[in-house]
Amino acid sequence: MACLSSRGVAVSSSVCPLCESAQECIEHTLCECPLVRSIWLKCWAWWNIPPPPQLTIKDVIFRSMIPSNCKGVGKALQGVFYTLMWSIWKWRNKVLHSHPDLKSAARHEDIFPQVQSLSLLWISNRCNKKSFDWKNWISNPRGVFN
Ligand SMILES: [Zn+2]
Repeated sequence: MACLSSRGVAVSSSVCPLCESAQECIEHTLCECPLVRSIWLKCWAWWNIPPPPQLTIKDVIFRSMIPSNCKGVGKALQGVFYTLMWSIWKWRNKVLHSHPDLKSAARHEDIFPQVQSLSLLWISNRCNKKSFDWKNWISNPRGVFN
């Protein structure tokens, strides 16, 4: 949105539709927004990985925040991160385009369970050598790959 505004494209608002307290840019929307950060924290906790002090899209793309003891599951974790970013973007659009009376409910929706189910679906379809089990995926996703 900020990019569009800076190029003279008329946009209704450049404020983040999720937190409504910062100018929206891609780093804010996918990594820095406090509401988004809370979803990332759930993801780190789920994979039992200490959260990085700061997260950027570059970190996600180049996997620089994946600890060395997780390299064996790096591809899967990368898939989870991409699923998470896709889900955040979908969530952001849902809030942005929802009826004003429904914005608050959409904003406070917990998208994390969707991230877990969608990432299981995508990864299990990409990796035909592993048998994936929902219960194991939720309780110990790293264990699925050992
Ligand atoms: Zn925000």
